[in-house]
Amino acid sequence: MTSLPKRWPRRMGLSLLVSLGVLLMVLRFKILPDFDAKSNRSLSSGPSEVSKTIQSLHDSAFVADLHADPLLWKRDLRKRIRHGHVDLPRLQQGGVDLQVFGVVTRVPKGTNYRSNTDTDRLGLLFLASWRFPTTWWSAKARAVAQARELRGLGRGSDLSLVLSRNDLEKDGLKGLLALEGMHALEGSASALHTLHRAGFRMMGLAHFADNAVAGSAHGLKKHGLTDLGKSLIPRMESLGITIDLAHASPAAFQDTLKLAGRPVVVSHGGVQGTCPGPRNLSDSQLRQLAANGGVVGIGFWRGAICEVTVDAIVRAIRHAVAVAGVDHVGLGSDFDGNTTTPIDAAGLPLLTRSLRASGFSEADVRKIMGGNVRRILSANLPE
Ligand SMILES: [Zn+2]
Repeated sequence: MTSLPKRWPRRMGLSLLVSLGVLLMVLRFKILPDFDAKSNRSLSSGPSEVSKTIQSLHDSAFVADLHADPLLWKRDLRKRIRHGHVDLPRLQQGGVDLQVFGVVTRVPKGTNYRSNTDTDRLGLLFLASWRFPTTWWSAKARAVAQARELRGLGRGSDLSLVLSRNDLEKDGLKGLLALEGMHALEGSASALHTLHRAGFRMMGLAHFADNAVAGSAHGLKKHGLTDLGKSLIPRMESLGITIDLAHASPAAFQDTLKLAGRPVVVSHGGVQGTCPGPRNLSDSQLRQLAANGGVVGIGFWRGAICEVTVDAIVRAIRHAVAVAGVDHVGLGSDFDGNTTTPIDAAGLPLLTRSLRASGFSEADVRKIMGGNVRRILSANLPE
């Protein structure tokens, strides 16, 4: 009788631990991959068959994509994965020279393009992916964790991380870290330096909600740059961080272009000329972007191009080129950003083919597929 009270709590503790372990395994190896696969679909999966002429144009071009979010899902990117859009084998098959890795740190509940409050539904994803407990609630911790994961990938694979101008000139596949929304600074200007040290060389001012730096195109107030935001623009430029106006409110877009001394990007988006909506640039914004020397990365998903086809991507590119000029247009797939796309990273030669078929010269195709992005980053990155 006396042994019972001791044995029972011990047994209960043990079975509780086992159940918790099983739950964490199910989250990590079943629920998270299923959610990832459901969130990131591709209508066709590479490698793609194109003519020798197109393939050699594609291979000799510097191919750059301004935005993809595979880091969020904590996959082993060294392996070819059946779902999603991006992993190192597919980037290599797709002839990619530079992939900009977006780092998502917060997504509001009921995310939409019109109006979002600053809530967070990513906590469970960071728990399910077995990341450090601070990432369950802190946007900054999430940014630092994903940066560390990309640096780790850079050490254990053919991918090299771009931190300076010289890194951009290296052969082979390169990756650049980009923050999606400066709410991850958690209101502190000194966090800019923490994130710069972590490897970030591009920063989007806002994501889906207004923040202490800038208003979002999908926020409640959609305000312009705050005083903190105005003070950060020259500091980002002096650190060699490229400013990204994707998701920024029209007011923040205007404020930034007034202050910017260097070219900016709109890393992933569309144009209202082929797909109206709050996610896409008006003709007047395209002209302002060209005057700044910047580049818009045309997205591959429905919100950017209104129809999930390679032809729709090319139509948006044609419109952007007609309004802004061929030096100001690039690619911003938003692969793995909770998107359905017509191709995955391995299918990028199909885009080169469609651009040529629609009448762009070889020289123009080279600019659009990545030459323009290389020019901007080479101007902005630190020595
Ligand atoms: Zn985005």
